[in-house]
Amino acid sequence: MTTNDENLISRYHAIKSTLPSHVSLLCVSKTKPAQDIATLAHLGQRHFGENYLQECLAKQAQLKELDIVWHYIGHIQRNKTRDIATHFDWVHTIERAIIAKRLNEQRQGLPPLNVLIQLNIDDEDSKSGCQVDELDELDELVAYVLTLPNLTLRGLMIIPNKAGSDAFIRTKALFDKIKGKYNLPHFDTLSMGMSGDMAEAIAHGSTIVRVGSAIFGQRNYKA
Ligand SMILES: *Cc1c(COP(=O)(O)O)cnc(C)c1O
Repeated sequence: MTTNDENLISRYHAIKSTLPSHVSLLCVSKTKPAQDIATLAHLGQRHFGENYLQECLAKQAQLKELDIVWHYIGHIQRNKTRDIATHFDWVHTIERAIIAKRLNEQRQGLPPLNVLIQLNIDDEDSKSGCQVDELDELDELVAYVLTLPNLTLRGLMIIPNKAGSDAFIRTKALFDKIKGKYNLPHFDTLSMGMSGDMAEAIAHGSTIVRVGSAIFGQRNYKA
């Protein structure tokens, strides 16, 4: 075993040991080699998240004999939806109806794709996500996704951009509100928390944390 593998494995176990049993771990492997994913998959880790489509498709081809659940967590360009619809099990970054519509059409013939709506919880123009200050926009997107047979709406996702904001609290409140309003049995996933803020996100109701650098080490280029 290489030193890299030993470090990777010990960081992975350290993170795992901090997670309550109801919180899932999504290992965010962007920019990291397929070999690192294989090392963790052999320990029983199944959920991996990637942001860059071409990079991820190449790794999937290398790892196809492993039992991995792939999550797409990057920004979705309209012309990339076909590969996302057919190569992933989960998509965390639905922010517009047109993207949901295309994924639904292109998922035809496969089991439903698990999707999360990404909220622009801090309402900054530069950030991706469905606006939440205009309540109707989120409500309309939820109602629309629920009409699509090849997508299963599983919950909400955020990338807060201000430390110490109440983004986690507001997102949990919106999550509970949608769940109460539509009575959705599969609406069970709140994707929040990364290497730097996972404990706080979990304290506020996260059910899946997306952890990259705390497991794989620093990335050479940033998302
Ligand atoms: C890169 C990335 C992560 C992981 O970030 P770390 O700070 O390395 O844990 C989580 N979520 C999204 C959407 C990302 O792009």
